[in-house]
Amino acid sequence: MNFLKNYEQFFSNEYSNYPSNKFISLFVLRETQSEVIFRTEGSGEPIAKEIISSKWGSSTYAVMSKRKALAAERRTGREVLRNHSLLKETNEGKLCALNSQSSCGKCLDCNIYGFAVGDAGCMKARVLSSDAFSILSIDEISDFRTFNAIYENGTMILDGENSQSLGSSEYIRPGVHILDQIVLHDVSQTEFLYVLMNVLNTNRYGAMSTRIGKMQNHLLGVAFSAQELGSNLQWLREIHEQLNSESRHPLALNEVTALATEGLPILAKQVNSQVSWVRGGDLNSMLNEFQTLAKTEKLIELFNEQTENYVTTFTKSASENGKKKPKKGDK
Ligand SMILES: [Zn+2]
Repeated sequence: MNFLKNYEQFFSNEYSNYPSNKFISLFVLRETQSEVIFRTEGSGEPIAKEIISSKWGSSTYAVMSKRKALAAERRTGREVLRNHSLLKETNEGKLCALNSQSSCGKCLDCNIYGFAVGDAGCMKARVLSSDAFSILSIDEISDFRTFNAIYENGTMILDGENSQSLGSSEYIRPGVHILDQIVLHDVSQTEFLYVLMNVLNTNRYGAMSTRIGKMQNHLLGVAFSAQELGSNLQWLREIHEQLNSESRHPLALNEVTALATEGLPILAKQVNSQVSWVRGGDLNSMLNEFQTLAKTEKLIELFNEQTENYVTTFTKSASENGKKKPKKGDK
């Protein structure tokens, strides 16, 4: 992609077993478009929350766990890979599958998000994660509602019987904003495009996501840097500095977008090396070029090329080492 040529030094194009200091951060404003339930585990649990201090004192905020967010985004990417036969087979001939013993170690998903089970060995994720917080406190943005209780299989039917029980669940209201950053460590241009696609195309998160859980991700900026930038918490506090105590749900999207974008430089304040930002018009140029790529077969061609590289390298390294253990790296 032409736009990314300006940032070539921040991409990792050589195979290496050892990490280098190439970081790319995607700054995402996540907006709920329907009721959403972010729970810690299982049904019946309360939604995940955290107490955070701000200029108004301590309050409780909703937490979107990074594990759940990544799982939804991985599913989006894997649907594309599956559709184009870019999920590979394990050494035992089983097709690569998420959350099972069958990780192929040779697809984009395995290589970027990592895996720890299966006969392909293990690989550390190159997507760095932390939890994301709501901008307003939980008493502003949540409510309770009665839903039909869901069985563990994710439906309301178990052994042919319909669920009769009703459960009261706390949910996040529509129009709630959550600040999140997704940090990529030592990725190639194609790997960056794969994660970008997943972030832009995923629009359902949380529990009961076939009925509720609709969300939209707004990409506010990208930073290329030689070290990791500040945290989601720092970003949240910067926005709180600009809000006043009368700020109530729902906040206007354009107001939040402006505040969150203006707040980004604070995340580079403690960084002692160069940071290259992509925002505003530059960001639009990047997204336009990505869209053009995604609307043609070109993006899939890049994914295919990267996957072939994984296959060649990991087959080679397995035979060289006399064992089936892939190493981290890319083309
Ligand atoms: Zn795989």
